[in-house]
Amino acid sequence: MATIKDKLQETTARVESACAKAGRPVHSVTLLAVSKTFSATDIREAHAAGARRFGENYVQEGLEKIQALADLRADIEWHLIGPLQSNKTRPVAEAFDWVHSVDRLKIAQRLSEQRPGAMAPLNVCIQVNISGEASKSGAAPGEVPALARAIAQLPRLRLRGLMAVPEPAADLESQREPHRALARLQRELVADGLALDTLSMGMSADLEAAIFEGATLVRVGTAIFGKR
Ligand SMILES: *Cc1c(COP(=O)(O)O)cnc(C)c1O
Repeated sequence: MATIKDKLQETTARVESACAKAGRPVHSVTLLAVSKTFSATDIREAHAAGARRFGENYVQEGLEKIQALADLRADIEWHLIGPLQSNKTRPVAEAFDWVHSVDRLKIAQRLSEQRPGAMAPLNVCIQVNISGEASKSGAAPGEVPALARAIAQLPRLRLRGLMAVPEPAADLESQREPHRALARLQRELVADGLALDTLSMGMSADLEAAIFEGATLVRVGTAIFGKR
């Protein structure tokens, strides 16, 4: 049985190989280990093997693990990547380093108001519904420029870029399309004067496609921790 350490090394090798094929430096892509449903012990194992950034989907579960791993707090970046309801923003603002799933101004305003003054500004990405599926969360691409300009004004947030979870596709070419669209949208925002440095896209099944199209952060769960 491959250990978490083995799978983390394989995933890092996949990221490096994709960077090489895309003609990009390896340090231009950050690996976020998505630990949802896995235990604090598994996260400890991944941390011992070198992982430093972890992504959680569910607020309560994430908070419990942050608490269980308090001894490693200074050495771990915690990212919330799942949907966030407005009644749950306070503990998120108080405990996480990043939120990737901001898709409306009200959530961003609450996070900014609730971010403690003693902490660094909260890093946020706008989640974009890039494949246009009715059921998925994320802002519609057309709403993103105005939303980004408004979020960039909030004092206790730092808008870092865009995030998407595209519709699954089997082959590399169809996987690349939505990632290319997200990268194009990000370029438009940068041309508009926003200082963005993060394109959060690519998961276990499509990280190569995402890296080809410019991902700077890939969110990988299954390939590191195993099946959920
Ligand atoms: C679960 C999840 C991931 C990781 O997916 P894998 O296919 O397990 O790599 C990435 N991003 C989001 C938003 C997720 O919910």
